[in-house]
Amino acid sequence: MLLVELEQSVQQIKRVGPATARAFARLGIVTERDLLLHLPRDYHDRTITRSISEARDGVECNTVAEVIAHDTIGWGRKKTLKVYIKDASASAALICFGRDFLATRLKPGVRIRLAAAFSYRYGELQSSSFEFEEVDSPPALFGRVLPVYPLSEGLTQSIVRSAVAHVLDTSARHIEDAIPQPLRRTRTLRSAQEALRAVHQPETREEAEQARRTLAYEELFLQQMRLLLRSPTRASRSRRPKLPDKLRERAVAALPFALTDDQKQVIVEIIADLNGPTVSARLLQGDVGSGKTLVAFLTALPVIEAGRQVALMAPTELLARQHANTAENMLGPLGIRVCLLTGSIPARARQPLLEAVADGSAQLVIGTHAVFSDATRFNDLGFIIVDEQHRFGVSQRAALVQKGRDADLLLMTATPIPRTLALAFYGDMETSTIRSLPPGRQAIRTHLARMSNEHKVYQTVRRELTSGRQAYFVYPLIDPSDRSEMKNAETMYDRLQREIFPDCSVTLIHSRVPEEEKRERMEQFVQGRTQVLAATSVIEVGVDVPNATCMVVEHAERFGLAALHQLRGRVGRGEHQSYAFFVYSDDLSEDAKARLRILHRTSDGFAVAEEDLRMRGPGDLIGVRQSGFFRLHAADLTRDADLLDTARQDARNLCDSDPTLASQPLLKRLVEIHDHMEARAV
Ligand code: ADP
Ligand code: MG
Repeated sequence: MLLVELEQSVQQIKRVGPATARAFARLGIVTERDLLLHLPRDYHDRTITRSISEARDGVECNTVAEVIAHDTIGWGRKKTLKVYIKDASASAALICFGRDFLATRLKPGVRIRLAAAFSYRYGELQSSSFEFEEVDSPPALFGRVLPVYPLSEGLTQSIVRSAVAHVLDTSARHIEDAIPQPLRRTRTLRSAQEALRAVHQPETREEAEQARRTLAYEELFLQQMRLLLRSPTRASRSRRPKLPDKLRERAVAALPFALTDDQKQVIVEIIADLNGPTVSARLLQGDVGSGKTLVAFLTALPVIEAGRQVALMAPTELLARQHANTAENMLGPLGIRVCLLTGSIPARARQPLLEAVADGSAQLVIGTHAVFSDATRFNDLGFIIVDEQHRFGVSQRAALVQKGRDADLLLMTATPIPRTLALAFYGDMETSTIRSLPPGRQAIRTHLARMSNEHKVYQTVRRELTSGRQAYFVYPLIDPSDRSEMKNAETMYDRLQREIFPDCSVTLIHSRVPEEEKRERMEQFVQGRTQVLAATSVIEVGVDVPNATCMVVEHAERFGLAALHQLRGRVGRGEHQSYAFFVYSDDLSEDAKARLRILHRTSDGFAVAEEDLRMRGPGDLIGVRQSGFFRLHAADLTRDADLLDTARQDARNLCDSDPTLASQPLLKRLVEIHDHMEARAV
């Protein structure tokens, strides 16, 4: 059995009932596999003894102590047990909040093994977070290195430790290795089974770290393997004439503005790829609003002029539609046939479109992935562009690539990622970057506002609306259904229309609004017939309405950095001064506060991405879809860059010598399972 096959629910584990299973689910842990991959965030080394007087600054003591006496602090219901103890070095007090029952175990005279972090309060050493066991019992929490797990409400360290131990002693015994034996030897890797045990129940911290690196290597190796197997290879192609460039020149001449230097540069790079001797894959990075779409259309032109087709895949129907409109306006006059394929087009209307794609008369085909993955056949697909690429998995990309013949691939993303991440997630891919925004854009003014001050925000928005501008309001929830205290789009839509902006026309968009209706409402907003758009983060990517100058995100603390940055990018797209208001509620964590401050400080997407990486770690990079593919459990790319390099090298060597993995049936199966998981997750 491979690790990925441990699909049993955690609820099968001894002593894990429905409530605990729900608590696990809050951490994304549903199966035994998830549990094994829930790695400790730290360890307590309880092999080193440390007396009470030696424990300082959050370092735990690890000592044998004797209970001296009991006392209580507080009154009535709030009465709390206080237990005086001493070891050879000092005496101290244990404050037992909500644990009065400890009085019977901690009787005066009892000797205990004790681990506790003390601080000086009221002239004595106190601890309210401690672990202990009676000296007479065999050591369970002492004399070893203990894992410390990330928890959620309803979980304790001991629940997680015992659940993990149970899986290690049962299902995990059947885990087989997928990494080829010779590689294990050269890279001195332990078996997967041993590594999992050692990472959860190490003898020493060093052993734990070694085990983590083994798991990290496996993760990265597998990821690189999948990239190599599923991504277009750099196959060489037959020589062909240089692509014509007349159409592109005409399109550029017809633009109402000049291209930025960065745009010109990346266009040169992409067209060089298209003319190159091998099939190319390139990642185009550029902050929101930097003009990637235009680059996409312009580079599509030489391919179309040469008589071949171009496909553009967008993550949402909204965005696909908008791209189709832009393309129609810009390319229609050049006589190019643009075709929009989306899931909401009824079968009857779709048939002729599919035929146009199949016979080649549809020259630029724009759609969502659902459309490209079914029976769509191209006559001669030569160039594939994927917008907001981080929303797609490798296998979706691969499915599209297979519809072409030696088709070049251009991936576009507004979530810029540091080099190590780019390598891990995209493999060897050239990158082009648009660093500067088009001229004339005014910097967006970002304001942070407390929920209780929201009326001031509404005032500013009203002023903008009065001078003819438009505004977005974004909420974390669709409707009040889950009885949350949080504001939701439905209810606020009502309030915005009735109470706050009664003179304006307000509209509503979220994922449960039917496509047809969504399209209608968006169209009205684009044309300025509605002034205020209440929405969820569905409008996060791509929506382009230059007259909109206000982006208000309520409960901003609920959104990740990248999402907020993307949302902010919906304004500041025209000539007018624009504003982003991030409205936060009072129960704001330190983390959330730090996130909002970053956005307040900088509007540079690259800086935001770096901060995001630093704060959250790459495994969790928001904006990058948490699919089976992208989720890293053990690898930490800020620390494991060296591992990534070896894993890449090893994967490439294996791929070169055995491109179909015929000699590696287990590895092959692992790759397939991951494809499957990814398809399910996206
Ligand atoms: P991205 O996809 O990179 O977020 P878009 O392609 O949507 O950005 O472009 C944002 C806006 O900027 C669009 O309205 C587009 O027409 C405009 N734009 C693109 N390039 C330029 C340019 N060189 N000068 C002025 N405006 C531009
Ligand atoms: Mg875009």
